[in-house]
Amino acid sequence: MPRKPSAHKEEKPISSISSIRLDEGKRIFIRDLLNEKNEGKQVSLLGWVWRKREHSNDIFVVVRDSTGVMQAVIPSKLVKKPIYIEASVEITGVVTKDERAPGGFEIRASGISIIGDSEKYPISKDFSEEFLLDVRHLWNRSTKIKNIMLVREKVLAGARDWFASQEWHEVNPPILTGSAVEGGATLFELDYHGKTAYLSQSAQLYLETLIFPLEKVWSLTPSFRAEKSRTNRHLMEFWHLEGEVAWLDFEGILKAEEQLLTAMVHRAAEAAPKELAALGRDPEDLFRIKPPFKRVHYDEVVKIMKKSGIEMEAGEDLSSEHEKQLTAKEKAPIFVVEYPKKVKPFYTKIDQNRPDFVLSADMLAPEGYGEISTGGQREDDLDAIITRIKAEGFNPKAYEWYLDLRRYGSVPHSGFGLGIDRLVKWITKRETILDTLPYPRTLSRIYP
Ligand code: ATP
Ligand code: MG
Repeated sequence: MPRKPSAHKEEKPISSISSIRLDEGKRIFIRDLLNEKNEGKQVSLLGWVWRKREHSNDIFVVVRDSTGVMQAVIPSKLVKKPIYIEASVEITGVVTKDERAPGGFEIRASGISIIGDSEKYPISKDFSEEFLLDVRHLWNRSTKIKNIMLVREKVLAGARDWFASQEWHEVNPPILTGSAVEGGATLFELDYHGKTAYLSQSAQLYLETLIFPLEKVWSLTPSFRAEKSRTNRHLMEFWHLEGEVAWLDFEGILKAEEQLLTAMVHRAAEAAPKELAALGRDPEDLFRIKPPFKRVHYDEVVKIMKKSGIEMEAGEDLSSEHEKQLTAKEKAPIFVVEYPKKVKPFYTKIDQNRPDFVLSADMLAPEGYGEISTGGQREDDLDAIITRIKAEGFNPKAYEWYLDLRRYGSVPHSGFGLGIDRLVKWITKRETILDTLPYPRTLSRIYP
């Protein structure tokens, strides 16, 4: 799209410089300037004004780009108009070593052009969390959110590579669906040309259909859940990493999950150690994580709670308080293996040795963070699954296509769903899940 001339009066019209600006090959990034290699060189740096201090003869401007921050010292006489925080600028000058500068190098500037002027930036020192959510489109420029986004990117790259190395196929299941996976209470309903449709709560049922042609499949999609309570670990829209595998049993899927998770957190530690450290996470904590993960049977959980004086009835689901208690002292994720049938959905496979239990396991993040994934073996028997669907109060007719999977060449199979936002919350040591993605959707907020 052609760039509109800005309303501000510039010393240089934007059109005359846009051809240089947009030539990636000629860009110099801050990362490359903070070392001896470019010392003494004349450079032209593009970025945004991050901090500014005025002295008698010089203005000190700290510029940021996507790779870092760097100080520029600009003689006041060269500056024709005020420089505001977050203005985009081009600074020309010589790279000079100076221990007082952040990063040890600075630009002794011979010129500054303001490319996009800035109004008074609304984010200053004293701000409330609510206000930062109101201006999230600007707050996403902060070092904190940027670091979290970079860690998140590495975690996902680690997952992709792991899946490729194990020959799982990436697929793209639908987001608009006609049937519920997780139950009606959290469905987002919409009008679909006069019919009722829903936003996907999980891709699982569709992934199950795709194991027949591809055997090992995975997807990364947003899942939508109209969660009615405000917690620090629930979003209305979260990023769901899900996989399903044919010819794999309960033990097999737990092994796959622990290997995948290890690959993801190791990748973050390798590729984003500085970002992790800045967020308060020692990358060594993540390097120490290795399979096999500790396993605690549900029965054992009930006993542990009794001993710790925390209320828990045998047969009930784990609350976040239970998960916190179980994982507070752990350094690596653990699995809670086997749950009472009545707390897990209709597709979970019953343990033949204990018909009140299902082959389902939650992976809980350490340090008190709690559930990050749920996986297990799926029910592959037609009659058993129809009975379970009815018992949950659903109409089997709505699941005809899903039931066909048990009619035509059913196989033992297993899968899992992992919340990327929850995983990032743990590894970046966040108190709230709202920090883990750029535009968190919550009970009360869909702006910006
Ligand atoms: P919870 O009991 O914590 O509400 P769940 O058991 O309903 O979660 P699953 O259906 O097992 O969730 O979904 C798989 C994973 O997706 C969870 O382990 C979690 O990491 C993530 N997840 C589920 N719901 C949300 C949500 N509302 N916001 C963020 N992540 C979620
Ligand atoms: Mg779960």
